[in-house]
Amino acid sequence: MQLQKRDKGLKPLMKPFSESRHFRMERVADGVFAAISKPGTGSLGNAAIIDLGDATLVVDTMLTLEAARDLRDAAESLFGKPVSYVFNTHWHVDHTFGNQVFAPAAQIISTSKTRQMMSTLLKERIAQHLAQPDEFYQELQPIEEKIREEKDDKLRLEMQLDVGYDREYIKGLPDIILTLPSITFEHDLTLHGSRRSVQLITYGGGHSECDAFVYLPDEQTAVMGDLVFSGQHPVMRRADPDQWISILDRVEELDLETIVPGHGDVGTLEALRQVREYITEMTAIAEKLVRHNRTAEDAAIPEKYRDWHFTSDFKVNLQRLIELMGERI
Ligand SMILES: [Zn+2]
Repeated sequence: MQLQKRDKGLKPLMKPFSESRHFRMERVADGVFAAISKPGTGSLGNAAIIDLGDATLVVDTMLTLEAARDLRDAAESLFGKPVSYVFNTHWHVDHTFGNQVFAPAAQIISTSKTRQMMSTLLKERIAQHLAQPDEFYQELQPIEEKIREEKDDKLRLEMQLDVGYDREYIKGLPDIILTLPSITFEHDLTLHGSRRSVQLITYGGGHSECDAFVYLPDEQTAVMGDLVFSGQHPVMRRADPDQWISILDRVEELDLETIVPGHGDVGTLEALRQVREYITEMTAIAEKLVRHNRTAEDAAIPEKYRDWHFTSDFKVNLQRLIELMGERI
């Protein structure tokens, strides 16, 4: 899709943008665009570009610098000016690694907790992986072995994509400058632009230690980060399932129609409800497994989730839930 300068009065384009191999642009509302990740590329997560009028806000910055540069070019091309604000919905690398492409020209915003996670756990992980990249590659070997043996085409393809993302991550790591948010907030923060105001809100952590989202009341739209996955198994590796459900309950009370998920296609509130239903069902499956002394390996994916992507997360999610149940005993 060719994105053209919308207003002849704007400054000349900084760099023409036509298309990215990492994402496709989707117009969500006037002046609101979603950058939807193309599978197997350096984006991994979705992002969004929002015109505030006298400023541009970019939500999340993808996994690789190449993807982030495309995102910046798309934003500048759309609205004819540098990006003023970047918002990290949470600390995961596919939402924060591109930060350095936008700073220092743009102010980076997150919750205090997300910044804290970036300056501690993420920083340590980066240092560890940089010091011992071979160990990281070694961990991929058994997975690659499994891929060769996997008979299920869908699962094999998705495992290949997963390993591809891991390889993108470790390959790009030496060039990453951990760029921490310069503005933080506790509960919510409103950005007032000449064209629209947007609310940055957190109700705590569900998918990660702290998840925040962007609410555009006039457009009845929210850019949800990884609180919502669409058509994919929500990643629950570090999740707090009960909190996640209560966060989604609160989000549903907002006046909302359109949801931009952290992964998957733009959808409606139905996408949010599906995530809630998934967490509830997965919890029931995990409880049953524990009761019968079984493990995640013994569980089959329910029919309605068979077409979803991130298939390998099904078992990882169950393991997480079983672990959490063990902690409660
Ligand atoms: Zn995430």
